[in-house]
Order: sequence, then C-alpha cells, then structure tokens
Amino acid sequence: MNQTYKIGVDLGGTKTEVILLDPENNVLLRERIPTRKDTYENILNGICYLIDKCINHLKINYGEVEYNIGIGIPGIIDQKTQKVINANTTILIGNTLQKDLENRLQHKIKIDNDANCFVLAETIAGATKDYHNVFGIIMGTGCGGGLVINKQIYKGFHGIAGEWGHFSIHPEGPLCWCGNKGCIETFISGSGLENLYYNETGESLKVPDIVKKARNHLQPAKKIFEQFLDNFGRAVGGIISIFDPDAIVIGGGLSNIDELYTIGYEKVKKYAFYHDIKTPILKNQLGDSAGVFGAAWLNNTT
Ligand SMILES: [Zn+2]
Repeated sequence: MNQTYKIGVDLGGTKTEVILLDPENNVLLRERIPTRKDTYENILNGICYLIDKCINHLKINYGEVEYNIGIGIPGIIDQKTQKVINANTTILIGNTLQKDLENRLQHKIKIDNDANCFVLAETIAGATKDYHNVFGIIMGTGCGGGLVINKQIYKGFHGIAGEWGHFSIHPEGPLCWCGNKGCIETFISGSGLENLYYNETGESLKVPDIVKKARNHLQPAKKIFEQFLDNFGRAVGGIISIFDPDAIVIGGGLSNIDELYTIGYEKVKKYAFYHDIKTPILKNQLGDSAGVFGAAWLNNTT
C-alpha cells in the first residue's frame, strides 16, 4: 500500500491554505494565513512557512516518512517556458514558481491551476466521484475551468485546457480583460452579470440581489437573468458538444443559483449537438475545501 503522506497548498488571492493528509487521506493538519502578495518573495515565504510546518509535524509524530507536495495557484504554468502566465495574482506572472520553490524546499513539487485542483478534488471525493471524465466549471468573479480524463488532469498542449471562460460567444459582446470581445466570462461570471445589469440600469447590484429581483419578475432583472441562463446553456452546451464528458461539476459562488440546474439545464439541451443529452450537471460538494484537497492529490496524477 502507498505509505506516502501528502501536503497540499491552495494559494489564493487573499489567503494561503495548507493541508496535511496521511496515506489514507485523513487530515492531520490544516492552516490558513493571509496571502502577502506585496512581493514575490513574500508569496514564496508564505508557502514555505506552511509547508515547513507540515514537514515538522511529520518529523515529530512519524519520524522520517515519505511525503509529496502539490500546490494550486490562481494562474497557469506555461508548458514551454515554465513561467507563470494568466495569473490574477499578478505578482506571480513571469516567475518560475515551481523551480524557485523546489530550490527552497529541496523537494520535488507539483503545481497546477486552482480550477484544475477543484475539478480533480470533486472527481476524487466530491460531486463527480462516480465519474471518470469530468469538466469542472467555476462561476465566481470570473469563469475558470478544468478537464479531468480518467481521473487525471488534462493540461493540454500549452497548459490552458479547460479555460472555457475566454471562449467568445458573441463577437460584438463586452470587451474582456483578456483582449477578446464577448468572452463567456463577460456574460455569466459574477462580475459579468453585475456589469450587464449596471450597463442596462446604471445601478450597481450584487448577483444575489439581481437574482432576487428576477425571481420577483421585476424588469429588467428578469430579462437579464433569462439571458444569463441562455448564455449558460450556450456555453455549457458547447462544452458538451466538444468533449461530451460523463458529468459536469459547477463551483464558485454562482453555483448556488438553483435555476442553473433546471432552466439552465434545458438551455444546455437546446445548444448541445444531441437531441436528448443526459449529462449530469452537478453542484460541487467540497466547497472551499476543493482547492486544497485537489492540490494535495496532484501527485496522484502522472
Ligand atoms: Zn476573455
């Protein structure tokens, strides 16, 4: 039996969290600290502080044991240059994070995108644990995603597999921060929905309040919410036509919108290239914990 302990770190924009698992995946230690992102050096310091804590815990309680380390980051490692790209914690961009941490820790580590960690965790122990090929979508401030094939993360040629949020669905749509127009993220992320509402009304409302107004049949919230569900169907229907996964799992704050799984699902059916799709579209089960567990399980994958 595999006797390796696992250390997982979830590097977030506001907090950095670590988890230490024993070989049976029992949690031995879990701790979070604020992310000090003023300098790259401080990001490294925070990660190493938490990992050292886990290593010391292992030494004191179990002696010299095998352990592996995985880290989830809000960005992508360019598969060609090994530098961080597309990170919303922008201080990471252009740095060889994996090499720098391995030098400091004198231990091999695995790093992956936090959305990939999310879908991996849900597919090992969460909502999609009964499925092998899963597309995970995150609808939060932005739209992230990841692809798991045979319970393993599929990174893609450049490392961007699963980045469905930056697929343009309307060429004349809003300008996205990535430079394209009409990206999925500009329509069905939290910030996208709030911007659409603001542009129509001049009023700043948070997603739950927009949804509440729509449920009370108040215009223009109702119309904007219907468009939101239709764009969800267009985006997810497209994913199904391309990848035809066994299941889809949704994470992020907007995964709590019940209509995604009812009216939204009917819209997905409308747009997918099959007359009667049965793909389960499931709400996440692990919540905020998916990132840190997924990071710890990165070493399960090849
Ligand atoms: Zn974009």
